[in-house]
Amino acid sequence: MDCVFCKILAGEIPGKILYQDEEVVAFPDINPQAPIHILIIPRKHIPSLADTTEADSALLGHLVSVANQMAKEAGIAQSGYRLVINCGQEGGQVVPHLHLHLLGRKSLSDTLG
Ligand code: 5GP
Ligand code: ZN
Repeated sequence: MDCVFCKILAGEIPGKILYQDEEVVAFPDINPQAPIHILIIPRKHIPSLADTTEADSALLGHLVSVANQMAKEAGIAQSGYRLVINCGQEGGQVVPHLHLHLLGRKSLSDTLG
């Protein structure tokens, strides 16, 4: 599988894993856009949010829940943070493996686009 995140999951690309369980893994973004920038991904290779269905609801909920847990551990749960899912080409998605961006510890822009 020629997917950079699947390679990270397989241990083929070394990196610091911040959290993992049977379904989800979290690790720092290689090119952080904020002092805290963590990626939360499913182990299952799902290309994008657009490829999910109702059957993935529990997994999607778990991804958000892990992001919230990571925010608490990073000490930004109270100061605030942003969760971003880029979906598809016009959504700015570059890596075709579903991921959540957890961004925090700086004043994030008021605008979303
Ligand atoms: P997207 O634009 O697809 O939503 O975000 C992809 C993110 O993955 C980018 O923020 C980029 O910096 C990050 N990224 C790309 N390749 C790697 C990698 O090999 N390791 C890590 N840790 N992050 C990566
Ligand atoms: Zn993948």
